[in-house]
Amino acid sequence: FFSTEQKDVVIIGGGPGGYVAGIKAGQLGMKVTVVEKRGKLGGTCLNVGCIPSKALLNASHLYETATTKMGDYGVKCNNVELDFGGMMKYKEKAVSGLTAGIESLFKKNKVDYAKGHGKITGPNTVEVTMNDGSVKTIETKNIVIATGSEVSTGALSNVVIDEESIVSSTGALSLKTVPKDLIVIGGGVIGLELGSVYSRLNSKTTVIEFTNRIAAGADGEVAKKFQKSLEKQHMKFHLETKVTSVVKQPNGRVAVTVEQVGASGYTGTLEADVVLVSVGRRPNTQNLGLENVGVPTDKAGRVEVDEHFATKVPSIYAIGDAIRGPMLAHKAEEEGIAIIEQLHSGVGHVNYDAIPSVIYTHPEVAWVGKTEEELQKAGIQYNAGKFPFIGNSRAKTNDDAEGFVKFLADKETDRILGVHIMGANAGELIAESVLAMEYGASSEDVARTCHAHPTLSEAVKEAAMAAHGKPIHM
Ligand code: FAD
Repeated sequence: FFSTEQKDVVIIGGGPGGYVAGIKAGQLGMKVTVVEKRGKLGGTCLNVGCIPSKALLNASHLYETATTKMGDYGVKCNNVELDFGGMMKYKEKAVSGLTAGIESLFKKNKVDYAKGHGKITGPNTVEVTMNDGSVKTIETKNIVIATGSEVSTGALSNVVIDEESIVSSTGALSLKTVPKDLIVIGGGVIGLELGSVYSRLNSKTTVIEFTNRIAAGADGEVAKKFQKSLEKQHMKFHLETKVTSVVKQPNGRVAVTVEQVGASGYTGTLEADVVLVSVGRRPNTQNLGLENVGVPTDKAGRVEVDEHFATKVPSIYAIGDAIRGPMLAHKAEEEGIAIIEQLHSGVGHVNYDAIPSVIYTHPEVAWVGKTEEELQKAGIQYNAGKFPFIGNSRAKTNDDAEGFVKFLADKETDRILGVHIMGANAGELIAESVLAMEYGASSEDVARTCHAHPTLSEAVKEAAMAAHGKPIHM
């Protein structure tokens, strides 16, 4: 459903940035086309990212609970069996339901959807090579680049991803069988999430990480405790270890040669059925016609934009994974709304100081704002208030009390500077701290807010109390 009449805006890419921008434009009465070549809407996130990974995390957590814990609660689960094919079907159903849902939201909001590859041929023209082979040209007042990112092998450029035994995150989301053992290269969010899926399904999982810590971006104390927690779940880690080669052997196994780069590192050769390469993603900015109009990219291939998402060409903007900033779906969505509001009314804004990050393992890790290391580096004086879930009645009752909440508040003003949570449901719990920071709240504001009992959110309140004064239950 798509017409070539002149548009107010053409958005190239139908991921969380592009599809949300499309819907917002439709809601504001703008004439809009979203160009997407994948054949399905939702981008990386819905098709091969956030959603399928969360489906597998949910299902594998249930499997692990059924096999190791349910008996403790008086629920006998005898002869629990893993149906891995069934698990994959459940994942596919989650994905297809959500992608189809966006298509109906497009219809509802009068968003034209061009299924094909978009290329910028001028400041106000986008040429679409439709998936059926035909070519259409759309004239438009504005163009928004929302082409997202794709898997990158980074410094491991000679590693050949076959998506069967040497896989990217995309292949890891669609394995045919559970590997006996799995090596994950890269201890970032994606590697830890997918590693823990297979670890729960009894793959012997080893994570190799170049730096001296996992979960880059998270608070250092949290990252350390999180690693310990994953080790208790039988995941193994080699930090300060560099991968020098990844080679498939005649027997089908994959050999990974590694070299120590720091005191705790390891040198040797490891072997596994499957190796997941999760060392980063690169922006999708090639074959987009940027050179036709003189839109520059930076060294990492990201479209260069100013704080209003504007490129050097006045009618061309860019958002999401294709530009600077964290590669997160909700960041792309916020930018999608902001750019359309800006084109419509002249004003659109994203507060980059209040963008949450979440690792959806068990326990989950979530944070917003500054880490202790960042505050120390910037020389900012702060109070830290911590509260462990072991002191929270709901967490204890749920038999799920690992982790803690940490509030960091300005020493002088008490304004919240950062909140870090490791624990069950941390990804949901962080929302109140994001809102608090959005409103410029102090830790006292949160400490004096009534939280329902018994809920995990009381641990957030008590950590705020600890930053401001003293918690009650510790
Ligand atoms: P994308 O989602 O990459 O969408 C861009 C779209 O543009 C793609 O569909 C592509 O086909 C299309 N496209 C590209 N070039 C063209 C062209 N020339 N013409 C037409 N179409 C084009 N983020 C989170 O916030 N939470 C998570 O839990 C999370 N989990 C993740 C798990 C995994 C395994 C991965 C890989 C990523 C995860 N992410 C997560 C990151 C998240 O998926 C991205 O940040 C997000 O999808 C970026 O949105 P986007 O709209 O910028 O780009």
